[in-house]
Amino acid sequence: MSEPKTHTGGCHCGKVRYEVTLDLAEPAITCNCSMCGRSGTMLRFVPVDAFKLLSGADSLTDYHFNQKVINHQFCRVCGIKSFASGVAPGGVETRAINVRCLDDVDLSAISTHAYDGKSK
Ligand SMILES: [Zn+2]
Repeated sequence: MSEPKTHTGGCHCGKVRYEVTLDLAEPAITCNCSMCGRSGTMLRFVPVDAFKLLSGADSLTDYHFNQKVINHQFCRVCGIKSFASGVAPGGVETRAINVRCLDDVDLSAISTHAYDGKSK
């Protein structure tokens, strides 16, 4: 049985670094909305307590669209979107982790769940 582990990750240039505790055996979400369909992110949503930004707060640029409930943050140096911030239904402060940006991840081993964000 797998269990949550602490993983490190971040952007391409190394300015933005974080650690996050999650179980990679659980499927990541791929979404076809106007944002995810373009950026190709594989997302895992975690409560803010499971996430710690280690460095790069001053390198993050904010981007909002649609209902502006999610803060799509990307590194202004390299442009990589390694995570996003938002509030889940129910009011829980949440981080959306781009699994592709974790250091130790075997992407071929990640199962995915397709979410039809385009139709929402
Ligand atoms: Zn960067």
